[in-house]
Amino acid sequence: MPPIPPPDQTAPPDAARRRAAAPVICYPPDTLPPVDRAWTAAIRRALRPVRTTRVPPRDGRAVRVARGQIVRIVCPEGPQVGDLNLWSAADPSERFYSGKTRALHGAHVSAGDRLWSTFPHLRPLATITHDTLAWYGIDADGGAVHDVIGTRCDPYTARLLSGDSYHRCCHSNLTRALADALDCSRAEAEPLVHDVLNVFMCTGFSADTHQYFMKASPVRAGDYLELYAEVDLLVGLSACPGGDCGAEHSSDAAPCHPLDIAVYDTDPALHRPAPAPSAYDRSHGA
Ligand SMILES: [Zn+2]
Repeated sequence: MPPIPPPDQTAPPDAARRRAAAPVICYPPDTLPPVDRAWTAAIRRALRPVRTTRVPPRDGRAVRVARGQIVRIVCPEGPQVGDLNLWSAADPSERFYSGKTRALHGAHVSAGDRLWSTFPHLRPLATITHDTLAWYGIDADGGAVHDVIGTRCDPYTARLLSGDSYHRCCHSNLTRALADALDCSRAEAEPLVHDVLNVFMCTGFSADTHQYFMKASPVRAGDYLELYAEVDLLVGLSACPGGDCGAEHSSDAAPCHPLDIAVYDTDPALHRPAPAPSAYDRSHGA
């Protein structure tokens, strides 16, 4: 078969004008309720520790967090990235929607951003109330922490690219953790595992090729990302085999450390009602 000829890629005479079109934010979040800073400060003032679950390196855990509780994803020792999944405890088919959260709040999230759920619910499962890495900002490479870009390291892509089977990827760690939490089989749990919030991971897109890059996480022992549970949650976390994700993942090569999931009670007088699911009637024009 002859090769398919390349399309004519000659730039049109008005190419410069076309490239100069003004960017428009796709989903301006201006109509969302603003962050209530006074409420955030109040609810953070009286945290009472309930329990802390340690996530061993290259492993996962899932814990239940009640509406109104606060949960911290903590880096207790060496630099370590965590892959976070959230499910509604009442119906785990309602789960964190990484892509729509990215569309609404940007590629990296921090305090004040909400973590939205899948269709047809599209409501906040959690709100970020504190981020000890908020100082990092956007670095000279365009990198920032806590991304909702990446999918999660997984054995299928690892197999595709290397030909090897690796069982300690975040996808598998989260699958085992969710199966344990729901007391179901791994085959039942696996389809509920979803694209993640990469806690502590420092990522961006390369300026020249727009490829997804990672660089060593700036996280230090004691840093945490703190969430308020807007609904009863199952919180799944994998301590990524990439460690600080400064070199590679999907292998046993990187030094890895544990993570903690710390749950706190808060003042019930300050609890908010669970957000209502989307009011769209789902008729889709029929
Ligand atoms: Zn991973």
